[in-house]
Amino acid sequence: SIVITGATGKLGRLVVQALLERNVPAGEIVAAGRAIEKLDDFAAQGVQVVAMDYTDASSVAAALAGATKVLLIASSEIGNDRPGQHRTVIEAAKAEGVELLAYTSAANVEVNATILAADHKTTEAILADAGVPYVLLRNGYYFENWTDQIEGTLVQGAMAGSAGDGQVNAATRADLAEAAAIVLLAEDQAGKVYELGGDEAFTLTDLAAEISAASGKTIVYTDLPAAAYVGMLASVGVPEAFAQILADSDGGIARGELLVKGNDLSTLIGRPTTTLAEAVRIALNQA
Ligand code: NDP
Repeated sequence: SIVITGATGKLGRLVVQALLERNVPAGEIVAAGRAIEKLDDFAAQGVQVVAMDYTDASSVAAALAGATKVLLIASSEIGNDRPGQHRTVIEAAKAEGVELLAYTSAANVEVNATILAADHKTTEAILADAGVPYVLLRNGYYFENWTDQIEGTLVQGAMAGSAGDGQVNAATRADLAEAAAIVLLAEDQAGKVYELGGDEAFTLTDLAAEISAASGKTIVYTDLPAAAYVGMLASVGVPEAFAQILADSDGGIARGELLVKGNDLSTLIGRPTTTLAEAVRIALNQA
């Protein structure tokens, strides 16, 4: 079977859908996560739904029983020893003798100095020592990190950030999920490293211009020094620690560390990636 961890999350759900769309028999797919009531629709289609917590090794071992391939979707619990959580899955995959473990890492891990990349770097080191066949899906920034906020952006008529003129080539979760499904179903993936970003690089000024053009409402991007951006986020209720992470990630964009080179994503999915204009249009239609 193919086990998808974090299947209760946004990316994991899309990977399960992409596998089903590629005619993988539902009974071959194991969708694992904590809040498994979110997976009732998959269970109704015959997908095996399994409760699993990265911090509970026996639940992880049980979820991976019989697995041939595993997609380890990085934990979202920043600050709660994510590498330790991932190690539990990696060790269970090793014990199970899986053919392939795919891990959702971060873009440009070798040079990416952002706070968020650190846990991915540590996890990649654990994988390198583990002796399990693995492939790295170094996912770039999601468009949705911005477009999920589009309603608020339109209300405020403004967008703030700390990314300067740095370029980023974001990708939709759906494109990244499709790439993950393709890798899981392909032969000879062990040892490969994919740097997955959109075909098109843009700045946050470009993003604001695109939202303006598509919505007909002028959105101004204001670039702030990191401390001022943290203060602004805190003033609108973003928890301080998370505000620091957001500003730090923008610093990574400013330094070019989140700009993915090459075209691994469009090559894997066999079509151009979703463009900035399309991603904005999708978000406006959902808003
Ligand atoms: P979500 O927050 O939607 O999903 C996170 C998933 O992690 C959920 O399925 C959640 O399960 C699971 N999870 C967290 N902690 C545990 C745990 N202790 N045991 C088992 N499962 C756990 O994130 P996305 O799907 O959007 O993104 C996937 C990952 O990508 C994130 O977790 C994060 O590491 C990273 N990310 C990348 C971004 C980018 O721009 N590239 C942006 C944001 C995140 P449950 O529902 O049961 O809690």
